[in-house]
Amino acid sequence: MEEKGITKDRVFELLRNYKKRDMTHRSGRILGSMCTCPHEVGLKAYHMFLESNLGDPGLFQGTKTMENEVIATLGQLLGKSDVYGHIITGGTEANIMAMRAARNMCRIEDPEIIVPKSAHFSFKKAADILCLNMREAQLDSQYRVDINSVKELISDKTVAVVGIAGTTELGKIDPIEELSDICLEREIFFHVDAAFGGFSIPFLNQVGYDLPKFDFSLPGVCSVTIDPHKMGLAPIPTGGILFRDKSYLDVMSVETPYLTEENQSTIVGTRTGASTAATWALLKHLGSEGYQKIASRCMELTKLLSQGIKDTGFQLITEPQLNIVAFTGEGIAPCDIAKLLDEKGWAVSIASHPKSVRIIVMPHVKEEHITAFLEDLKDIRY
Ligand SMILES: *Cc1c(COP(=O)(O)O)cnc(C)c1O
Repeated sequence: MEEKGITKDRVFELLRNYKKRDMTHRSGRILGSMCTCPHEVGLKAYHMFLESNLGDPGLFQGTKTMENEVIATLGQLLGKSDVYGHIITGGTEANIMAMRAARNMCRIEDPEIIVPKSAHFSFKKAADILCLNMREAQLDSQYRVDINSVKELISDKTVAVVGIAGTTELGKIDPIEELSDICLEREIFFHVDAAFGGFSIPFLNQVGYDLPKFDFSLPGVCSVTIDPHKMGLAPIPTGGILFRDKSYLDVMSVETPYLTEENQSTIVGTRTGASTAATWALLKHLGSEGYQKIASRCMELTKLLSQGIKDTGFQLITEPQLNIVAFTGEGIAPCDIAKLLDEKGWAVSIASHPKSVRIIVMPHVKEEHITAFLEDLKDIRY
């Protein structure tokens, strides 16, 4: 650190130089991310509440009220208005909280969790932090979790089973209803990771899609992860964790001596209220209709993109269920396709199971970007 500070103008000039090196969602060039351009209404609300700390909610009762309202609205969207939860940093923190609740409900030796092979890596972190053994269930031919594999892995050590509504790599929806039945019957905590799908599946179904049930309307579902900073258009970092019952929060709660609340169940202490304000504002401003339009537009462009990819002679890994397209090309490795696309300015990502080029058609991706992308894809075809 320098002894003397520099002028504000100089600071911002330097900041702009760094910012120039960042990619922007607006450019349409980011095709491999689940984040997107935050909606302006969310940004404005976020900015208004930068000082608010939900780690000490007695001081910020307005924000706390908004958090309760957001949780209730998300609960309604997911089949149950009286749910309990928090707006946190993202899917990772939500999944860690869910696994912590499940483990604390049981308090057994050598606890195990069962996650699909397609699960997000946050469960590895959760397992490590919480000292859980993670068992991976196999997938079926459509890359959804294989029910029999889950059944085989269940033992008296199982404290939680995880199902995914919108897998990170391929956007697949596991057979949540069947998993719910199995867990209900065996009295096992069942968590649904809808970090990606939570803000699109319900809205797509409202406009006539026929996507499978995945939420609290299924009686075995104990908790759901839903990320407003993905398809919810909220600024980063905004995640959501919802529990069916308050007892799941209670088993994680610790006393907080010097704060305005007596107990705290979240992992972090000081926690921004800005994310809550942004989500609250967006739910009000966009309404179901707004989110229906966003989700269906992404699906229409997904169809356009997958058709284009097939027409160009590449192979889809699977027909997209949500707005994620994964493909490979004969005689060329996915990472080489990605490298060639990168040279043309496209930032795609690589899926690992199976190895493929992965594109997430997020709301910042417009038709003109897809058309330009397909032109460039044609060029790299031999
Ligand atoms: C993105 C994602 C996560 C992780 O969320 P972060 O917000 O990146 O922490 C977890 N699960 C699924 C299914 C995801 O798609």
